[in-house]
Amino acid sequence: MALHLNELKISFEYYPPKTLIGREKLRQVRAILNPYKPEYCSVTYGAGGTTRRGSIDILQEMMQEGIEATAHISGIGMSKEEMQELLQQLYDMRIRRLVVLRGDIPSGYGGLSVSAQDFQYASRLVEFIRLGWGRAFVLAVAGYPEIHPQAQSWDQDIQFLVEKVEAGADWVITQLFYNVDGFLYWRDEVQKKGIHIPIVPGIMPIYNSSDLLRFAQTCGAEIPRWLDKKLKSLGSDVPAIRAFGIEVVTNLCTRLVAEGVPGLHFYTLNLSSSVQAVLDHIMPKN
Ligand code: FAD
Repeated sequence: MALHLNELKISFEYYPPKTLIGREKLRQVRAILNPYKPEYCSVTYGAGGTTRRGSIDILQEMMQEGIEATAHISGIGMSKEEMQELLQQLYDMRIRRLVVLRGDIPSGYGGLSVSAQDFQYASRLVEFIRLGWGRAFVLAVAGYPEIHPQAQSWDQDIQFLVEKVEAGADWVITQLFYNVDGFLYWRDEVQKKGIHIPIVPGIMPIYNSSDLLRFAQTCGAEIPRWLDKKLKSLGSDVPAIRAFGIEVVTNLCTRLVAEGVPGLHFYTLNLSSSVQAVLDHIMPKN
């Protein structure tokens, strides 16, 4: 049954800015989005610990704003000792939600292979946390409705999601997608495998065509032909692309809510305007 909009949980994902100006801009973005009462806000973590200081700083700022801060952690490039130390730091900061990822090997880690890692797959990191920390943290893992780009096959990728859940994940956040039918089919398949924890779609707003195509290519998500063609036809007309993007993402969210998703996780890109516009369309006014 479709979920009532009042029960819909929303969350916002930010990345740690590299500059003081970026950090100030992000404060302004949060000042606009915090009033939408997100269940939590998360901060990404550069694989190999590359953004550790910046991620922790943003988490701390969000906590001071009264937001439930959620830390992404990626296992790649980290030893068990380093991970234990990071988990202790997050725990001491009173962070209790984590998004647990494998991550991608950052450029500059020349020659380092995935198989040489303490945390070769996200499931290993979930296991490590449950073994050492019990239920001290609530854990999300990533899911791929269009299948992870490095997956050997559709079935295997779903099976590896099952492994992450069996290792102790509490909810799943998906990769971005614009094909609702594909998501629904994948969700059915995942549920047939006995996964009954919440599956929350990751929603990517559309600000410009080239960025979207680049993101999608990097993460193996499909931009449907009609969307690609329409975006290209709008050329560099930024207001038109923005308006079209809001329409597309509003329709996407509306359909997903009608299909009973428990929440929507917005990849904000540290920008507020499109997320705000979409939420104003789909959320009930008080
Ligand atoms: P895994 O679940 O480990 O899967 C990685 C690949 O290995 C897949 O192809 C899978 O099929 C395969 N696999 C899994 N288990 C096994 C096994 N036992 N044997 C063989 N193959 C296996 N990246 C960051 O660096 N920082 C972030 O903050 C970040 N946040 C993200 C947030 C979300 C919501 C999502 C969806 C992605 C995020 N990413 C982030 C990107 C993510 O790190 C990459 O997509 C990465 O390539 C895979 O991470 P994973 O945790 O899904 O890996």
